[in-house]
This record gives sequence, C-alpha cells and structure tokens, in this order.
Amino acid sequence: MTELRYLEDGDARRCEATVERTVDDRVVLDATVFYPEGGGQPADHGVLRAVDGDREWRVVDVQKQDTVYHHLDGDDPPAEGTRVVCELDWDRRHAHMRYHTAQHLLSALLLDEFDAATTGNQVYADRARLDCDHDRFDDDDLATIEDGLNELVDGALPVRWYEMDRETAEAELDTDRTRIGLLPDSITELRIVEIGGDGPAGACDRADAAADPYDRTACAGTHVGSTADIGTVTVTGRETRGADGERIRFVLE
Ligand SMILES: [Zn+2]
Repeated sequence: MTELRYLEDGDARRCEATVERTVDDRVVLDATVFYPEGGGQPADHGVLRAVDGDREWRVVDVQKQDTVYHHLDGDDPPAEGTRVVCELDWDRRHAHMRYHTAQHLLSALLLDEFDAATTGNQVYADRARLDCDHDRFDDDDLATIEDGLNELVDGALPVRWYEMDRETAEAELDTDRTRIGLLPDSITELRIVEIGGDGPAGACDRADAAADPYDRTACAGTHVGSTADIGTVTVTGRETRGADGERIRFVLE
C-alpha cells in the first residue's frame, strides 16, 4: 500500500521511495508526494530521480485506482526495487493548493449568502470554475462574492485537518456542508478539513478542532496553511449551467 505523504503534509515537495511495481509506463511506489487527479484537482507533475546513478523519469500524470499509479514519459521505466527521489513540480502544485483552498471558501460563501450548494468544480494552475445550484447571479452578486472571498483571504484564516470515521461524521457533522454524501460508500475513514475558527493550522486531533469554523468539508485534496496564501481573488465571469445551475469562474493573483 502506497504511503500518501501529500495527505500528511501538503507542503512536502519530495520524498524517497522504492518502486514496488512497474506496469507498462506506470510505476507504483511504497510512498509518494504526488497527488493523483481527483476532486476537481489535477494530478501533480514532477520527476523521479534514481538515488544511485543519474537516471531521471518525468511524471506526466498520476491516477488513483486500486493504488496510486505514476505515469512516466518514455518507455524505459525504473525496475522494481529501484530507490528513487520523488520531486514535485512545486509551482504547479502550489497553484493547485491555492485555487483548491479558494474553492472551499467559495463553496461555503455560496451556501451562506445564496443557499447555493456546490455541484462541481475544477481547478487549474491559472484559473478555476465552480458549478452550483442557483437561478442566476447578477453583477451585484458577483461583486458580493468577490468581496467576500477577498475578506476571507485578508482574514488569514488557518486551515487544519483531522481523521474521522464516516459513521461519526455522518452523525455529528452538518452533512450539507461536509458534502459526505458525494463520497463513494467504500470510503469509511474521512479526512475533515476546516478553515477558520480558533485553533492551530495543519494536522491536528479532533479535540483541537475549532468549535465553529468558516468551512468544514470532507476532502482528500491539498490546501495552503492559511487563506492569506491564496492571494487576491478576481471573479472573471458566470454562465448558465444546465436547467437551474450557475457556473462561476475566478482567477488568483
Ligand atoms: Zn479540499
């Protein structure tokens, strides 16, 4: 089973690992910092570098199926047992972390201000979009959304997370906000991510979690440690999405 270092420490840019399996152009490692595509966040890119020798392989895609598969560029992947250093394309990952954390704020703000539930989202390294249940946003609404997001950024709210079993989470947390119902039944252990409220940033015990965070969501993505790291938010537009849905687009500076 691959140890998922990106869950323990979203700031980890590299780790050492051993190649457990090679399948065509894909390798399975015993540990990884590479985030596999999921939850609207793209896969990490980067390199695997042999600990012994000077071989290097570019990681061009990462997908999670039964375990995490690193897709490599070229047709000569490392053999099983090879020790490698995994190193992220950090600029790309950090952009995804900023956009993904901003998406948490936007989802919470849309529920608070418009009673609009998020139905989908996609972040990139230079833009993001989010779909929600809402009739139509006008220009004033978009200004309210943009101002609200930038206030939350200025507030430098801490981001923290902890593990929780699904049964407890479904019994004790507000499931509309945590969006647990969207997760497959196979997931029994949840990672709860909170933004805001009193308490430390980073990994914590549930006992140290905030009483009343701004956002609390079940999420296996990667996040910045403070909303101040997100940067200035500009809402770039909206469009109708389906019968009664809206799509909002935004960029960060
Ligand atoms: Zn998240």
